[in-house]
Amino acid sequence: MARPIDILLVDDEARNLDALEAILESPSYRLLRAENAERALRLLLENDVAAIVLDIKMPQVDGFELAQMIKNTRRFRETPIVFLTAHLIDDHNVIAGYDAGAVDYLTKPVNSQVLRHKIAVFAELFRKTRELAELNEKLEERVKERTVELERSEAALRVAAQQKDEFLAILAHELRNPLGPLRSGLDLLLRRKTGEPAVTRTLGTMNRQLHHMVRLIDDLLDISRVSRGLLELKRTPVDLSEIVAATVESLRPQFERRHQQLTLEKSPPIEAMADSTRVAQIVTNLLTNASKFTPERGQITVGVAQEGERALIRVTDSGVGIPADQIDRIFGMFARVNRSDGDGAMGLGIGLALARRLAEMHEGALSVASPGENAGSTFTVSLPTSPRPPMTVAPSPGAEEAVGATNPLRIVIIEDNEDVAESLKELLEDTGHRVWAALSGSDGINLVEEVRPNVVLCDLGLPQMGGVEICQRIRALPMKDPPLMVAITGWGREEDHRRTREAGFDHHLVKPVAVDSLDKLLRSVTV
Ligand code: ADP
Repeated sequence: MARPIDILLVDDEARNLDALEAILESPSYRLLRAENAERALRLLLENDVAAIVLDIKMPQVDGFELAQMIKNTRRFRETPIVFLTAHLIDDHNVIAGYDAGAVDYLTKPVNSQVLRHKIAVFAELFRKTRELAELNEKLEERVKERTVELERSEAALRVAAQQKDEFLAILAHELRNPLGPLRSGLDLLLRRKTGEPAVTRTLGTMNRQLHHMVRLIDDLLDISRVSRGLLELKRTPVDLSEIVAATVESLRPQFERRHQQLTLEKSPPIEAMADSTRVAQIVTNLLTNASKFTPERGQITVGVAQEGERALIRVTDSGVGIPADQIDRIFGMFARVNRSDGDGAMGLGIGLALARRLAEMHEGALSVASPGENAGSTFTVSLPTSPRPPMTVAPSPGAEEAVGATNPLRIVIIEDNEDVAESLKELLEDTGHRVWAALSGSDGINLVEEVRPNVVLCDLGLPQMGGVEICQRIRALPMKDPPLMVAITGWGREEDHRRTREAGFDHHLVKPVAVDSLDKLLRSVTV
């Protein structure tokens, strides 16, 4: 049953109170009796009163005064008061009563039915208000609980996302290490050219797959850096048409293998303040996808155009297209389209997420339009352009003469992974250099003192003595011609480059070291 509702009866005469009690007697009410104002006020404070039946004529504090006091207390301002008068009162008094906060008057002898009826209305109103307040309170409590739960799960999600990003970074870094000796070993074999078609073919395949794997791992590392806000752009004035053209040319063999027609529309120079490596990375991702999701003999067109203050790079293919309901989700991390033919299972699903983030870091955007399945897709990168006229980029001095200048050098490799050290050593020896390898920092320093190399290739993460300390010690050796110090590491962030520079390294190469970049570096060394 519902809780009984409190009704306060105030009258200085006990028998009047008895009469009122008799009239209002009901299990729905708890009737509180007060013979004077003081007791009435106490009962009001101690209970939750729904209505007051108040006798006007009382000694000391009369009904009007008491009503005034009650109405002056905030908590009771809304509590209805029914005045009881012994006789009919004049209008003047009625108005005074209403001013004091009365809601009704009843004359004695009280018509019991009328009183019961009036009190029932007030009680019902009170019950509803109380229910509403309780409901409200429960709701607020629930909201509070839910907020706490939400905050808790949000914090857990944040931790999980952070752990995932860190895991991705470590995973990519660890995956890079074994790729080092594979890269150098393969480069060595590719140089040796056996002439046997099956070997050449296999090496070609291995080379492409390795290249693909390095790219996937690089994307993985990049996306984890972007998520953690660690990726920085190196923006310089660049010609977007030139970057796109160079990227298209570098990927042409990939399209030729699939007999796909790759067309680059001619475009004038378009200058932007951009990170050329990252713009090339965006275009590479789009073109690799275009080739991957277009059947053999399909067509892919690339165009760059200026529209207002923006440059639009468009990659259009005649491939499998994207179903309308998947368009929004393909830019999400690890998002791939599930296709019945199984094509959607290719890749990690991070290429587009990364490409879009890189475009956004340039205050640009990446979007896609596709008329539907098997109707091809058009990806559009929009980048802000610079208002200035494009500069002509002069080739860097020395770049030309460096090519082809084989320059036998004395090289010391300091690397604790024997496979990496050996494969790199062999590769470099194959190029005509004299190479020594040490598996620890102290052996490496001794070797440097002994053989006086022109170049030291030093791993950074060695167990006992790290690369930074090794470099500092080699720098401190009394040598007339100090060697060129090259750090080789799995970490390629800007802060890693800065750290190796501060330690005294001249160069910083990221594992797996591509033979071309190492060659280029070694060719620039003059002895
Ligand atoms: P991945 O290619 O590694 O799966 P991406 O992030 O590059 O990851 O692409 C996400 C998904 O978007 C792909 O799995 C593919 O289903 C779809 N997609 C990307 N590019 C194209 C394209 N040119 N044509 C059709 N579908 C595409």
